[in-house]
Amino acid sequence: MDKEKLEYFRMILNEEMRSLLEEAGKTVSEMTVDATNFPDPTDRATQESGRSFELRIRDRERRLINKIREALERIDDGSFGTCEMCGEDISEARLKARPVTTLCIDCKMEQERRERHP
Ligand SMILES: [Zn+2]
Repeated sequence: MDKEKLEYFRMILNEEMRSLLEEAGKTVSEMTVDATNFPDPTDRATQESGRSFELRIRDRERRLINKIREALERIDDGSFGTCEMCGEDISEARLKARPVTTLCIDCKMEQERRERHP
């Protein structure tokens, strides 16, 4: 992949990372406010389930942030855009839709098929 395209994907990934970190920061500060605001036990229960929801979101965000980090590393080491299973180029359309992917569409479909029918 040429340098210009790599820089384009680097920009997209950095932007996605930035907005995820922003969201994660927001979640943390909302949680801190919550902890002192509801002395009533009923409210506290609501608050607890709200918190575990937030934690699930954060877990998802954390995984995504890791994937973005790995994708940025692949841009640096030159393996970005190459399928890690078959070594073929991943189509640009697929990378634009999902820049963190490490598999071409064929290998991804094969992987999903195996996960459904092990
Ligand atoms: Zn492949």
